[in-house]
Amino acid sequence: MDVTPILESLNDAQRQAVTASAEPTLVIAGAGSGKTRVLVHRAAWLIDVEGVSPQGLLAVTFTNKAAAEMRGRIEALLGMPVNHLWIGTFHGLAHRLLRRHWREAGLPQSFQIIDSDDQLRLIKRLLKNLEIDDSRWVPREIQYFINAQKDEGLRPAHLVDEGDPNRRQMIALYGAYEEVCDRGGLVDFAELLLRAHELWRDNDELLAHYQRRFSHLLVDEFQDTNAIQYAWLRLLAGKEGVPFVVGDDDQSIYRWRGARVEHIHQFQKDFPGTAVVKLEQNYRSTGTILKAANAVIANNNSRLGKNLWTDGAEGEAIKVYAAYNERDEADFVIGRLRDWIDQGNLRADAAILYRSNAQSRVLEEGLINARIPYRVYGGLRFFERAEIKDALAYLRLIANRDDDTSFERIVNRPTRGIGARTVELMRSYARANSCTLWRAAGAIASDELNARAANAVLAFLNLVERLAREVANLDLPEQIDHVIHGSGLVDFFKKDKGEKGETRVENLLELVSAGRSFEPDPAAEMLPLDEFLAHAALEAGEGQADAWEDCVQLMTMHSAKGLEFPLVFMSGMEDGLFPHQRSIADPNGLEEERRLCYVGITRAKQTLYVTYAEQRRLHGMDNFSQPSRFISEIPQDFVEEVRPRVKVSRPLHAPRHSMASSAGDELGIRLGQRVRHGKFGDGVILNCEGQGAHARVEVNFETAGTKWLVLSYANLDLM
Ligand code: ATP
Ligand code: MG
Repeated sequence: MDVTPILESLNDAQRQAVTASAEPTLVIAGAGSGKTRVLVHRAAWLIDVEGVSPQGLLAVTFTNKAAAEMRGRIEALLGMPVNHLWIGTFHGLAHRLLRRHWREAGLPQSFQIIDSDDQLRLIKRLLKNLEIDDSRWVPREIQYFINAQKDEGLRPAHLVDEGDPNRRQMIALYGAYEEVCDRGGLVDFAELLLRAHELWRDNDELLAHYQRRFSHLLVDEFQDTNAIQYAWLRLLAGKEGVPFVVGDDDQSIYRWRGARVEHIHQFQKDFPGTAVVKLEQNYRSTGTILKAANAVIANNNSRLGKNLWTDGAEGEAIKVYAAYNERDEADFVIGRLRDWIDQGNLRADAAILYRSNAQSRVLEEGLINARIPYRVYGGLRFFERAEIKDALAYLRLIANRDDDTSFERIVNRPTRGIGARTVELMRSYARANSCTLWRAAGAIASDELNARAANAVLAFLNLVERLAREVANLDLPEQIDHVIHGSGLVDFFKKDKGEKGETRVENLLELVSAGRSFEPDPAAEMLPLDEFLAHAALEAGEGQADAWEDCVQLMTMHSAKGLEFPLVFMSGMEDGLFPHQRSIADPNGLEEERRLCYVGITRAKQTLYVTYAEQRRLHGMDNFSQPSRFISEIPQDFVEEVRPRVKVSRPLHAPRHSMASSAGDELGIRLGQRVRHGKFGDGVILNCEGQGAHARVEVNFETAGTKWLVLSYANLDLM
């Protein structure tokens, strides 16, 4: 057999890992050293050379996108499609198992996944039903508590209150939450993992079946597995299985979600005779970028330690830009992006990274104004929009009438005369009779409600039943199309005049396109609608609209894990933002932030920009910060400071000719520029907008406060 394609373009260490005999293997190596590549080639090697059936492989990746990519690469190496190959995230794989074995898992066949928003709403509702004060028992904290227990594999029955009344209440709420979920057939993300674990733990035959089937387990990003995921892997591996895991202790960034880098050590104990392979050559980044990353991560104490090198070019220096404020930062980034695009590069080859989600808004605004297409990767964008959630709630209720969360969301949307009081009656009926809202609605309509309210409720129930009948034999996109119209949602938002309503209708229509481009997984063995709904909940945002368009990638540093881009901007590099305020005082927290910084830097292949703002308005507050300490951890030799563009000294009230450029460009003024005004005195330019005769600037005057001034009248002098 010709094995060259699979072993081609692998170095010796990579080849050793790919061709290892069937023994537990741990590949532990730095960023860009080819771990993911090794995993792909290993899968192809096992199938093509070792003769393992594709059904015998189970591959775990960190995102659904990575899973799709991995499948594509394996197929490319093998030169043929491979069905029946299980590749997915822990959550996705757990979900698939539960769909197949819902009965053994103690779930209704039509169980639905709820995302963390739905989960939070459910908890709030629960508190209300139990008449518990939600200022004392904060829903988010309860949610965190519940998920943390599940991540450790713990049910309420496993927990003891240790005489602590607070804890006792938390445990009780966890129990009550579980009841509600069980009743409605609802499964949250943490529950997927926990149930899938219990499914195997408590069903010897089933476990034995899967142990026989999956002779080879492949895991990417192993450093970020949490307790329940690791326990699940161990169960599956049993005594005979041969897990092949790759990871990097320096890129462990999900401790806050229960991930434990210690599993790297634990693995070697749990699987005696583990072969450990180290990869040290980096193929991704220039020498400069790599050395900068190495220098930053060297400040961490708890490391396994490794020495990453490259024989590639040194490349250009890392460019640092000190922005005056967040708008100036966005302007700068967008200016450089423009240059990049004008030079004929792909937009998709550029990524803007940020530490916290909220930072994206200003960048998004700038990109929209500059008409540069962009995509927020991994952020809940498309599927998070209210109208999309409405449409999905209809589809969910059609799939499962017992889904209370969806029921509540749409019972009066579009408005159909079902008031808060009627809904409250349903709730108390459901509570008293331990049934779902759907059943409660039917019951109270026939005796407790007045004729008008009863009619409204019955009309809603009939509508859902009718839609369910009508879509039963349609294809997925037709189902969605039928439901968004038949439910009245499209008309409802059409009435909402103006851009907002229009956008909402467009989004609803986009959902039909999403259904059209959705490719059911042949191995999933589910109804397309169920699979689509699960997909919507699981990967909200990941495979979102406009996927075909070439666009700039925006994402948090966390979401960037595993990815690479020729051009990378790391924005918001300020102490307090990155490293995050809450981590600064805690040495472990600070080390995790530094690993995140290492992840960020090592995403860049050729060009890396690091930007920070001296003043930033975020979440409605003004912050004045110092540049991130991580910037100073990059040796000066690798860094070049970018100066703001041209500054001209002509007075601002000089005649202007060009109408084409913005106020700032035209006059050479920049944000942060000091100016003097005849009446208001000295100040600093905060903002500028408009062109030509309409150009205006916002100035923060030392004594007169902040003012917007029209440039052509203001007679400002530059200082
Ligand atoms: P990360 O830690 O960021 O997940 P990784 O270790 O998984 O990185 P890969 O993404 O597999 O690294 O590889 C990084 C880049 O280097 C990819 O573009 C990959 O194609 C390339 N690469 C890896 N090994 C080789 C090789 N032997 N020859 C040429 N290119 C390689
Ligand atoms: Mg990788």
